[in-house]
Amino acid sequence: MNGKIGLIFGDGIGPEIVREAKKVLDRTAEKFGHRFDYKELLLGGASIDVHGVPLTKETVEEAKACDAVLMGSIGGDAKTSPWYQLEPSKRPEAGLLGIRKALNLFANLRPAYLYEELRSSCPLREDISRAGFDLLIMRELTGGLYFGARKTEEVDGVMTAVDTLSYNELEIRRIAKRAFDVAQKRRGKVCSVDKANVLDSSRLWRKVVEEVAKDYPDVELSHMYVDNCAMQLVMNPAQFDVILTENMFGDILSDEASMVTGSIGMLSSASLNDTRFGLYEPSHGSAPDIAGQNKANPIATILSAAMMLRYTFDLDQEAEAIEGAVRQVLKDGYRTGDIMTEGCTYTGTVQMGDLIAERI
Ligand code: NAD
Repeated sequence: MNGKIGLIFGDGIGPEIVREAKKVLDRTAEKFGHRFDYKELLLGGASIDVHGVPLTKETVEEAKACDAVLMGSIGGDAKTSPWYQLEPSKRPEAGLLGIRKALNLFANLRPAYLYEELRSSCPLREDISRAGFDLLIMRELTGGLYFGARKTEEVDGVMTAVDTLSYNELEIRRIAKRAFDVAQKRRGKVCSVDKANVLDSSRLWRKVVEEVAKDYPDVELSHMYVDNCAMQLVMNPAQFDVILTENMFGDILSDEASMVTGSIGMLSSASLNDTRFGLYEPSHGSAPDIAGQNKANPIATILSAAMMLRYTFDLDQEAEAIEGAVRQVLKDGYRTGDIMTEGCTYTGTVQMGDLIAERI
């Protein structure tokens, strides 16, 4: 097959890690007989430097003309970078929010996987981490509390702030379908997380998710209150496959889930809309403290490229080849600085990309 991929190199370590992901994609294409064409797109600080704004109409249009976009992280050091002298709407992060909105990316997928070889980085007790875990948080990204009406005003002489948590059934149905689709590609389990004992929005959420579940008899659905889920993620993360949840709950739970893996340089993510298009990026930031030093771990970006093959291009075997190569490199004892442990071989960014590409 032929695919057109937008590449956003981004800021800080972004260009280094995206180059390695492209190397691995090219090797995968060569091995499996595909062809990927790339279009470089500007976003964030790199776009400010050229155009004075973090996102241009051209970038949005060019991204729309691609099948998928692979992105490094954007942003700089807020204390020293001139980008942060600009007003908030012109700073790098505004570009990221802008492109997510322009492309209607309502579904955010963040896998949290504990590699056997990296178990010593896991902050959980050994008897819990021994079971390992492999879960994915499906977070609704464009609705709920962060997008509802808000105001701060004086009421009877007292300052009062209001935020609105609103979801309609269409918004819930489309994210629920995404979660069930993804569960079919995994272990066939969805745990929908809400606060239906208190919130109306959660009661509607639960009702719609149950309706959607009827179309997926092969997927097992369960429900969990968000406070319980926060506990279960540290007590027994192995129980979860896909966790489906609304925007704010997902914001908090996905950070919790990624931190229990203990390895920020390993965490991939995807943001999807209702076509096959997706924006794929590592979960970490642009790490300006190590930029340009060949120290960054490219694995989160390489695994994001694997997600792109699976979810945009439906190339499951190719995605597994990349994930298998990452596992093999870790088994062979190679580590970048962030995941280094005694007895392993220290590896720079470029070498890590080479080692993974060699194992495809
Ligand atoms: P960060 O994730 O960039 O860095 C936190 C720490 O983790 C640093 O010590 C860094 O060196 C390390 N680290 C991160 N990724 C690594 C990797 N691949 N390999 C090795 N070490 C890695 O978070 P931060 O310092 O809070 O933010 C830096 C910049 O990134 C800010 O401008 C922030 O706004 C931006 N940011 C962007 C995104 C995004 O593009 N989606 C996400 C988060 C933060």
